[in-house]
Amino acid sequence: EALNKILDLKGSIRVFCRVRPYISTDRKRYRDPICIRSEKVVIRSSTIKKEFSFDTVFSQEASQDDVFMEVEPILRSALDGNNVCILAYGQTGTGKTFTMEGTNEQPGIVPRALEQIFCLAAQDNSVSYTFSMSMLEVYMGSLRDLLAPKPHHRLHETVSKCRWYTKGKRARSTAWTNVNESSSRSHCLARITIRRSGSMDGSKAEVCKLWMVDLGGSERCLKTGATGQTLDEGKAINLSLSALGDVIAALKRHRSHVPYRNSKLTQILKDSLGDGSKVLMLVHVSPCEEDVGETTCSLIFAKRVR
Ligand code: ADP
Ligand code: MG
Repeated sequence: EALNKILDLKGSIRVFCRVRPYISTDRKRYRDPICIRSEKVVIRSSTIKKEFSFDTVFSQEASQDDVFMEVEPILRSALDGNNVCILAYGQTGTGKTFTMEGTNEQPGIVPRALEQIFCLAAQDNSVSYTFSMSMLEVYMGSLRDLLAPKPHHRLHETVSKCRWYTKGKRARSTAWTNVNESSSRSHCLARITIRRSGSMDGSKAEVCKLWMVDLGGSERCLKTGATGQTLDEGKAINLSLSALGDVIAALKRHRSHVPYRNSKLTQILKDSLGDGSKVLMLVHVSPCEEDVGETTCSLIFAKRVR
């Protein structure tokens, strides 16, 4: 049983990497500094030669479907009663929001997850589910509810699945749009609370949380020449991202002390990062030569938490 426990813990943190395709604003390229060999990301630039392993790597050609296929099992585990935390990490402009929220034509993990948990819940007659959703933002160490003044969107799944979904979807995308302008300097968190109870025995409901987090940009603030407010915002993001890294690294190493209290972000996510919860970190990187420095930093972060 001890062995099982260890295996289970080892299996509870997964780290994926997604390499963004080239977009029109990228500078003209002569060669690719980043390449993928099975589950490894290899950096080969004039200054850096390094490789990093992941549980899964998504190349520039990977579609939203490809990504969602790998994420889906973790949603099932949320419906089975596990706390789940899906986090998008990376430098600004590497595709975190594209992966999490996506576009109308190419929806990302959050809209797909909402749809999927309903499908799965509807197939299961032995359990009844109630869902609620919140959209939160952590900015400069403080928490803001993006759905205020109506913070909780709670509808009984069995009563009105479609209504909940439509309402949740609208609230979510409005929240996401409102926060988009500052998205590189704040963390945007979607939280689905799942209450399950046996429909037969009327036993006590179990509650678990599914977090889907679009983290603030991981770029180092000194390089960008930021000053004043922007510099402070950058520092706040960097502090909370390193606190997040410290927490996950401590969990991986089974440390007795896990430093949740070092940032607002890790305090909020505490329940869903610890024992018995599943964590999926999606690390995003740029394909461009001029970003190789930041890419290396992101991959080093990923290596530490994996
Ligand atoms: P971030 O949230 O990390 O700052 P975005 O998600 O806003 O980055 O992505 C930056 C730009 O790149 C956007 O225009 C986005 O549509 C585009 N983009 C990112 N990833 C992809 C992808 N996998 N396929 C196509 N376009 C992408
Ligand atoms: Mg973004």
